[in-house]
Amino acid sequence: MIAIEVKNLYFAYYDEDYVLKDINLIIRKGERVAIMGENGAGKTTLIKHFNGLLKPKRGYVKIFGKDTRNFSVAELSRIVGIVFQNPEHQFFAETIEKEVAFALENFGFPKEEIKRRVENILKYFGLLRYKDKSPYSLSEGEKKRVAIASVLVYDPEIIVLDEPTTGQDAVQRKRIIDLMKKISSLGKTIIAVTHDIDFVIELFDRVIIMANGRIIADGPIKEILTNREVLSKARLLPSPITQCAWLLKELGVPQNILTPDEFVKSIIEVFQLEYKD
Ligand code: ADP
Repeated sequence: MIAIEVKNLYFAYYDEDYVLKDINLIIRKGERVAIMGENGAGKTTLIKHFNGLLKPKRGYVKIFGKDTRNFSVAELSRIVGIVFQNPEHQFFAETIEKEVAFALENFGFPKEEIKRRVENILKYFGLLRYKDKSPYSLSEGEKKRVAIASVLVYDPEIIVLDEPTTGQDAVQRKRIIDLMKKISSLGKTIIAVTHDIDFVIELFDRVIIMANGRIIADGPIKEILTNREVLSKARLLPSPITQCAWLLKELGVPQNILTPDEFVKSIIEVFQLEYKD
């Protein structure tokens, strides 16, 4: 089933000054897709098309077959939950509890259900003790988690996250990844804009690379994130593990390695080492 279809999409904020040019994309239900690329490439502009905040100048965007031009942002947001990069732009309630409950109230969930869901998600993200505080009183990492919680709580079919790992310590980062994995196992579609290559390797199967308003690469992470030319165009450094593999090229270590696990296995194989667990 196709979750998102983007066809010949062009978009300009002013006149004919296009910041998205001929974007073509199909994302299927249940896929985990990362969008990467240099600043100003058009990543945020693209994801704003997924819930209808921006509408195509040319071409179309369809969400489960619905052309975004024919639906309101409110209708599309029920299906596509977007967590924006700067959480402060998203906040408006005076307490964290109200902030996270807002969408549920809007969508008409029963009171008891709202209470249960809000409590569960705040607990999961270590935010329950702050529930009566203002979202603005939190640290950057906590604000980000409130923003993520306020979208995940209403269980949208497609979840889009803009730079979700910024400002998170290792424990919270793992929590975000684990929760995303759980949500993904329920068949949800997950899309993230990120510069964090290790996050992509841990969570995503497919990566789309953008540069200058266009998609310059789209495919499995193993192929794209070990491609020197694409990485350099996207101004990305390969992961340290990939760099290690590249340094050992002459010794016959495969060049498309992404994880420590793959690296160790290939070293054992190439050097015919005996490894006892
Ligand atoms: P990215 O998310 O890849 O950093 P953006 O989608 O934010 O890229 O920006 C793409 C281009 O659109 C940039 O040149 C940026 O300056 C421009 N842009 C972004 N938002 C606006 C806006 N609200 N008004 C005018 N230009 C914008």
